[in-house]
Amino acid sequence: MLPTIFVSHGAPTLPLDDVPARAFLSGLGKTLPRPQAILCVSAHWDTDLPEVGAAERPATVHDFYGFPDALYRMQYPAPGAPGLARRIGELLRTAGLPCEEAADQGLDHGAWCPLLLMYPEADIPVTQVSVQSGRSGQDHLKLGRALQPLSAEGVMILGSGGAVHNLRRLDWRRTGAGPDEFAVAFDDWLERAVVAGDAEAIADFRRRAPHADAAQPSDEHFLPLVVAMGAAGAGARGRRLHHSYTLGNLSMAAFEFAPA
Ligand code: ZN
Repeated sequence: MLPTIFVSHGAPTLPLDDVPARAFLSGLGKTLPRPQAILCVSAHWDTDLPEVGAAERPATVHDFYGFPDALYRMQYPAPGAPGLARRIGELLRTAGLPCEEAADQGLDHGAWCPLLLMYPEADIPVTQVSVQSGRSGQDHLKLGRALQPLSAEGVMILGSGGAVHNLRRLDWRRTGAGPDEFAVAFDDWLERAVVAGDAEAIADFRRRAPHADAAQPSDEHFLPLVVAMGAAGAGARGRRLHHSYTLGNLSMAAFEFAPA
């Protein structure tokens, strides 16, 4: 069984920035068992109902504006995984969830930025499943649980979002001073819930976590974590693989979930 993983992808400049999270992600691929395929659940593909990418050759999508040219030249030419997409559709429908195949879906930066660091050879097939920020944490826990069989089939489930993610609170000039209190309180609550295997609390984070509205003003960057935890199965516990902050409060925490 492969573990399921959640990573915080931070700003789109992650592949260019000399930050601890980049160093962590650059080493992460080598520490994990090599998967046959990767299913990424990224904050940056947000749909009304679950969708799965079915492209043979997914494009590298530069879904951000006003960043350095070098970032727009980056490509992540990993093969797609249309067979896996069909399998995902079956699993979701069996669990009573809808699932549409998106034939031309590329890889958004929430997927390709961490993958470029983790697996720079781009030789492992990748597909994505969307998040649905209009649906609940419980819905995403159910989505994750439906994907659990894939971990025994050589597929690594990788959630990519942000453990603390509030773009309006970022401090681009922060030097020296420690991270903001609201971010630390939320991040510490999150780690405790992950370690305790409390998936119900995590799915209900908006009501249960301290400073949830400051740490996650919208749901889409948190939901990939709910899916990753769900995909490790009922009773799964996690551990924090990495912990750092950038820009005063952007948590770059990463977690690994092992089946119970
Ligand atoms: Zn993002």
